[in-house]
Amino acid sequence: MSAEENDRAAWFKGPWAKCSVLPPFKERPWRLVLLGAPGVGKGTQAELISRRLHGCHLSTGDLFRAANNGCRAGTPAVAEALRYMRQGELVPDSIVWELARERTGCIRCRGGFVLDGLPRTLAQAQALQELLNKECISLDAVLDYELPRDQIIFRLGGRRICEACKAVFHLTQCPPSVPDLCDQCGGRLIQREDDRPDSIATRLDAYQHLTMPLIEFYRNLNLLLPVSAIGSPEEVFARSIAALETAITDGPLRSRDPRDAIAGLSDHRENSPRNNDELL
Ligand code: AMP
Repeated sequence: MSAEENDRAAWFKGPWAKCSVLPPFKERPWRLVLLGAPGVGKGTQAELISRRLHGCHLSTGDLFRAANNGCRAGTPAVAEALRYMRQGELVPDSIVWELARERTGCIRCRGGFVLDGLPRTLAQAQALQELLNKECISLDAVLDYELPRDQIIFRLGGRRICEACKAVFHLTQCPPSVPDLCDQCGGRLIQREDDRPDSIATRLDAYQHLTMPLIEFYRNLNLLLPVSAIGSPEEVFARSIAALETAITDGPLRSRDPRDAIAGLSDHRENSPRNNDELL
């Protein structure tokens, strides 16, 4: 973590914790939700986008994993959440929402946010809308990452994570220089429990049945921006920024100041493969 990067303490530990960085005041901070099946690279994109637009990367998956590593004293609710997570099942809405509501301060934060992994069900999406309305906050956009199912399974099955610094590798796409060891810190590379084949199938099933309806939900709110997740993280990032830029100049984000348009990435604009039935 670089000196000025926020440690997101309030998200990981709870509202009583103070974040290391107080974000600078912005007239109109970015408030985004990232949607997409497990394995499309939402976490990586959330990281890149939040660095670029300065909102905090708020991931419920990271929150649960941090709890698993002892970052937050394990309450019974968190212990129960981890049991679901290990099996690749969605954590019950009541637990997710209790943790999210507790962190309303992060949603209100003047730096803005990039929500990754929340909401994941219609009930969560509705609860989030109610909370945002109550706080007089509106979302700017929902980026929906699309990737064919076979590529998702390939990405998740080969993913390895450094136990110590959480750097992400892939057995064939991005292998470490020394097998099983992290290039960055020398830590041991492990497979996430929920990246094992049984869990992957359960997660994709949960996505299809419980999360996909959110695409329609956000399309109806005129917030949805589809983005193809095919290619390298840099290519997908360029597409994400281009989608936001197009929405500012020519779409649902027209109310934003045109100076918000992020210059220089338009050349990477591509069409998303919207009509491929295999897309999740
Ligand atoms: P992720 O890192 O976003 O893939 O999340 C990892 C796991 O955490 C998921 O497979 C779920 O078990 C759990 N999880 C994260 N966010 C949510 C959510 N909003 N609702 C239910 N379960 C969640």
